[in-house]
Amino acid sequence: METLAGKRVDVVGGGLAGCEAALQLAARGISVRLVEMRPNTPTPVHAGSSLAELVCSNSLKSQKPDSAAGMLKGELAALGSFLLNAALSCAVPAGGALAVDRERFSCAIEGSVASFSNIQVVRAEVVGVRDDGALLVRDEGSGPEESSAANALSPAPDALIVASGPLTSDALAASLQQATGAESLAFYDAAAPIVMADSLNGDVLFRQSRYEDEGAGDYLNAPFTKDEYERFIAELVAARRVIAKDFETRELFQACQPIEEIARKGTDAPRFGALKPVGLTDPRTGRRPWAALQLRAEDAHGMAYNLVGFQTNLTFGEQQRVFRLIPGLEHAEFARYGVMHRNTFVDAPRLLDATLRLKRPIARIPVRIAGQLAGTEGYCEAMRSGLHAALCTCAELADVPAPIPPAETAFGALLAWATDPATVDYQPMHVNFGIIPPLEARVRNKKDRYAAYAARGTKALEAHVARLQSLGLLAESTGEESAHLHADNAAGQDAPATVSPAVCAKVDGLGRNVAFTASEGTMRRG
Ligand SMILES: Cc1cc2nc3c(=O)[nH]c(=O)nc-3n(C[C@H](O)[C@H](O)[C@H](O)COP(=O)(O)OP(=O)(O)OC[C@H]3O[C@@H](n4cnc5c(N)ncnc54)[C@H](O)[C@@H]3O)c2cc1C
Repeated sequence: METLAGKRVDVVGGGLAGCEAALQLAARGISVRLVEMRPNTPTPVHAGSSLAELVCSNSLKSQKPDSAAGMLKGELAALGSFLLNAALSCAVPAGGALAVDRERFSCAIEGSVASFSNIQVVRAEVVGVRDDGALLVRDEGSGPEESSAANALSPAPDALIVASGPLTSDALAASLQQATGAESLAFYDAAAPIVMADSLNGDVLFRQSRYEDEGAGDYLNAPFTKDEYERFIAELVAARRVIAKDFETRELFQACQPIEEIARKGTDAPRFGALKPVGLTDPRTGRRPWAALQLRAEDAHGMAYNLVGFQTNLTFGEQQRVFRLIPGLEHAEFARYGVMHRNTFVDAPRLLDATLRLKRPIARIPVRIAGQLAGTEGYCEAMRSGLHAALCTCAELADVPAPIPPAETAFGALLAWATDPATVDYQPMHVNFGIIPPLEARVRNKKDRYAAYAARGTKALEAHVARLQSLGLLAESTGEESAHLHADNAAGQDAPATVSPAVCAKVDGLGRNVAFTASEGTMRRG
């Protein structure tokens, strides 16, 4: 888009939303400054300095087209999402879900960002926004309390996207809260533990994907008898936790309810969630177990496994004691213990319009909030939110109407819910069919109903893509071609926006030196 050449946008946060936004803006010729505070200012959860680091599960959820998560992926693909593209290139086996090798995923995004000469990555903590829109960053020499010792990044941009995520630094959260005059909430989430593959008991665990009798199976399953299950639950609810009273009184991130909190609701509650046995057959008995925990590979080589759905607030010692009561995990070595974290988000229904723009200006330039800070929960939701904020920023700078996705699409429904002033008790939410507009004719059968939502969503998406095209907002190659998405960078070169052959080197989550080439998928360990 010619009108966008010479425009500048600053993006705060090099996470999922921020990276997607930066890449989309750069692909349309805008000069982008992507400001990420790590590694100088760490978060309690991120392990390193990589852009787009996945902090918890490595799963991006279902790929089934007739699920809300699958619809969302279809929407990301149709709009040429760089991050979905990277995820597909780093996929690890996960049944019907899209799961990634997290290190290769980050490496791929870093390669894409580096391939755009019109993206400048600045490593600094943003502590505020000046009236003219210039970002205030912490002076490296100042301590955490001295937020007044800040430098302004110049020149001031034409627009700003804040995508600093659930772990937005305290200084920026305080500044946003002061500027908006509204409450931005902070509460706790929980992350699941990871265990080493070679410490697991292969005589007890069996490999199978749920509802799939044939094939090798992507998950390891730990089967419980009734007695084993009841003993485990009794120990789980009695175990010591890190945050007790304080935590119980807070609202929790829906998808990350700690397993002990779920068990506290009733002995059988986990058997309908993380420990559900349906669709599994224990080869030792030929029967469905009483309960079962699924373990999913964390990396392409299957060296470490994630305890699926076992986010927890237990102390590390208690995690070792109690989780070793799980059949097959008697001698489990923990590569990472489950941990509790803060989650920050703004009151979107009152603060944001449908373009994610702050309704009450905090600077003389348009400011948008994207990702989990806007309250849309989940990895793919954050990517889509960053993409939406970027498209709306482009539209505003080019003086064309804002491209609001129809409510019949998965993200359109989430956006409509999240930015509707009528929404009360706003809590982070992922895409789901509970907030999508009802079908014209009632469809009783759940499977048929979901298929009807998906078919209707596909039509609405096609119309949305056509509108983006007519507004001149689509980058040249999108949709099915997204796997080969190319974008003109500022130098006018045709730069590959997909996985670049960048070599990443870092210490992995298991404390080993790792070097690998994202595009080749090769991994060397030292
Ligand atoms: C503990 C935990 C577990 C989670 N588990 C899952 C899960 O299993 N599945 C799922 O789908 N979602 C999960 N989520 C939600 C997940 O964080 C979001 O879905 C997604 O990462 C949000 O993307 P984002 O871009 O908004 O934020 P992030 O990916 O967190 O990116 C924000 C970036 O901004 C940076 N930043 C923060 N403050 C500043 C500042 N002042 N200046 C500059 N940079 C700053 C951060 O360092 C970070 O890199 C979890 C969240 C938490 C906290």
